[in-house]
Amino acid sequence: MRETDWTRVLGWSGYRVYQHEINEAAKTLKLWVRRTRGNRKLICWGCGRKLAEAYDSYEREVRDLPCFEFRTTVVVELYRVRCPDCGVKSEKVPLLPSKAPFSKRFEEAVGMACESASVRRVARQFGVAASTVRAIDLRYLRRWAEGRRRPALGQMGVDEIYLGKKQKFLTVVTHLETGEPLWFGRERKKETLDEFFEKQLSAFQRSVVRAACVDMWEPFRQSLEQWVPQCRIVYDKFHILQHASKAVDEVRRAEFFRKGGAARDLVRGKRWLLLTSWLHLDRGKRRQLNALFALNRRILKADLLKESLSPLWNYTYEGAMLRYLQSWIDQLRWQRLKPMEKLAGMLLDHLEGILNYCRTKVPMGVIEAVNGNIKALLRRGRGYRDMNYLLLKAQRLAATKTEFIALQKAA
Ligand SMILES: [Zn+2]
Repeated sequence: MRETDWTRVLGWSGYRVYQHEINEAAKTLKLWVRRTRGNRKLICWGCGRKLAEAYDSYEREVRDLPCFEFRTTVVVELYRVRCPDCGVKSEKVPLLPSKAPFSKRFEEAVGMACESASVRRVARQFGVAASTVRAIDLRYLRRWAEGRRRPALGQMGVDEIYLGKKQKFLTVVTHLETGEPLWFGRERKKETLDEFFEKQLSAFQRSVVRAACVDMWEPFRQSLEQWVPQCRIVYDKFHILQHASKAVDEVRRAEFFRKGGAARDLVRGKRWLLLTSWLHLDRGKRRQLNALFALNRRILKADLLKESLSPLWNYTYEGAMLRYLQSWIDQLRWQRLKPMEKLAGMLLDHLEGILNYCRTKVPMGVIEAVNGNIKALLRRGRGYRDMNYLLLKAQRLAATKTEFIALQKAA
C-alpha cells in the first residue's frame, strides 16, 4: 500500500501519511502523519487564537481505532506557537481533544462503549487500564455536556438518595421537564439546597422556577421559601407513597416484635413482598404473602391502606382530591394503626403542598425514574468517588433514553 492509500484509509482531514510500519508478529500498525500543504492555520491551546506561524514542531503518538486486527497508533507532527497572550504553547488540533495519548474517535468509541457496558469490560475490549477508561469516559461526557443547550428550569424536583452509612445522603435536583438530573449535593440539609440556588442559578433563573416537587422534608421547604418564594411546593405521589411504605413497614416490625418465636420465621425476609405492588407478584409470592396476612390482619390492613392512597393522584380537581383524602383518613378510625395515623397527620400538615399537585400539573414519575437510574448506575459502577462523573453519567443516560423514545415515536 502506498502512503496516499494510507492517508485515505486513515481519513484524518488535513493530514497525510508519510511513513508507515506494520509489525505482523505484534499485530501493530503505526502511521506517521503531518499536515497537508493547504492546512496551515494554527490554533493556540491556551486561548484559541489563530496564528499563522509555527514556533517549532514536535511529535506525539496517539492510539487510534484499530485497523482490522492491528492495534493502530498514529505519530502526529504537531507545532508549537508563540502566542502574544499565552507565550509558547502547543497548537490545538480537533482530532486530539486532550493531552492524553488518544485520538478523538478512539475516545468516542470508548465513551460510547461505556454507555452499555461496565468499565472493566470496556477496559478489556480496548486493551487499556480501567482507570484510563474512566478518564476517557469523563472527558467524553464533558465534551458532550459542553455542546448542549440548557433549557430554563421551570419545574424542579428535589430528592435524596441514601448512599450508605459512611456517605449518608446525596441530594438530587432534577429538571422535571427534560427528565434529567441537574445537580448533586452532599447531605440533605437546608445548606445543601441553598448551595444549588446560590451557585447554580442566577437571580433571573431563580425567578422563573414555578414548581418544586419535593419530599415532606422541612430543610428543603425552608430553602425553597428563601430562594424561590414564588415557586409552588408540590408533595408528589412518589414521595408520599414512600412514606406510606415506611408506615406499613413499621406496622410489620411492631407485629414481628409482638408475636415472637415461630411466627418470626414466616415473617423473616418478607419485607420486600410488602414493598412490591400486588400486581407484580407471581402466584407463589402471592401465596406467601397470603400466609403472612393470615398471620397478621393488621399488616393486611396497613397494606390495603397504602394501596388505596395511590388513586389520590388520579384527581385533577382539588376539591375532589381533598374529599378523597378525607375519606381515606376516615377509614383509619378504630383501626388502631399508629404508624398510619402518624402518616395521616403528616399529610394533613402538608395539605397545601399535596393539593398543589392539582394546581401545577407536574409530570409524574420523573423523580422516580431519575432516582432509579442513579441507583442502577451506583450498583453497576461501584464507587463513583467523583460525584461529577456520576452526574454526567446520569444525565447522559437520561438524554439518550429520551432520544430513544423520540426515535420510537417518529418511527
Ligand atoms: Zn494563546
